[in-house]
Amino acid sequence: MPTGFFTHDLCLSYQQGPDSPESPERIEAIEDRMLAMGLQRAVTALPSSPASLTDVLRAHDEAYVRKLAEVSRRAQTCGGEQISEDTFINAQSFEAALKSAGAAIEAVRQVCAGTLRNAFACVRPPGHHAGRSFAHGFCLINSAACAALHALDVMGLKRVAIVDIDVHRADGTEDIVQNDGRIMLFSLFQESAFPYGLAPAQAGNIVNAPMPEGSDGMDVLRVVNEVWVPKLLAFKPELILMSAGFDAHRDDKQALFKLTEFDYSIITLGLMRVARKVAGGRLVSILEGGYDIRSLARSAVAHLATLIRNA
Ligand SMILES: [Zn+2]
Repeated sequence: MPTGFFTHDLCLSYQQGPDSPESPERIEAIEDRMLAMGLQRAVTALPSSPASLTDVLRAHDEAYVRKLAEVSRRAQTCGGEQISEDTFINAQSFEAALKSAGAAIEAVRQVCAGTLRNAFACVRPPGHHAGRSFAHGFCLINSAACAALHALDVMGLKRVAIVDIDVHRADGTEDIVQNDGRIMLFSLFQESAFPYGLAPAQAGNIVNAPMPEGSDGMDVLRVVNEVWVPKLLAFKPELILMSAGFDAHRDDKQALFKLTEFDYSIITLGLMRVARKVAGGRLVSILEGGYDIRSLARSAVAHLATLIRNA
């Protein structure tokens, strides 16, 4: 069965701000690398629609979504507003976030329907820092949470795992899925990095692995193999969603982890094995962070090539 590839037009034009590392060049570089590697031929590129309000409201409060829409609409005349210390909303922001979530949801729909074995939603803005009613870390709408809740509420799945390998803590995803027993969230992150000063997660369905600066591929693989895989096999998700950030790469200066392209490939392979054992191979990966353009492109393509080769 094929691997699906989902993206949207605003990925290549939406600007978060002149100095933001969360830029169109990220997606451009990944697609360029895919072309250079011949991967465009190996994936099925598929269209998607922006997430519906119903899908977004499963994960976010209505007042918050209304505020995002209003600020984005106002920005058409005033240029935009800072919604948090690091996140700016302009006229395209709301639409871009809806399209990213929509791509993730469509990927889930097709993987659950059995027309794709797995899929990669190569989208921006990212989503895992967006909580039920807060935006920061370049994130407005939580694509992974919207996709997980769509799989449960619409596609009829009983259990979904979200595995977040971005170097930053998935505080938004935690906020949305905490205490929802149908979802288990696994997240590893650099403890000293953004978002700062959070208390440890209390909910039983959140498996966090805070790790020290300098952690490398072996450290991360130890967490994946010794902690996550046994818990995943016991939880038996019917779908694995990956919040695939690539900012734990050793070249990415947003944090101080030392992963390589090879590590991303091995992590992907491990999660695919689990998906094959308990979820009929169903795995949907959603791009989160990754801000060093070159290592992001290499890592995302190593990840995607693994998804394709082993689908
Ligand atoms: Zn990140």
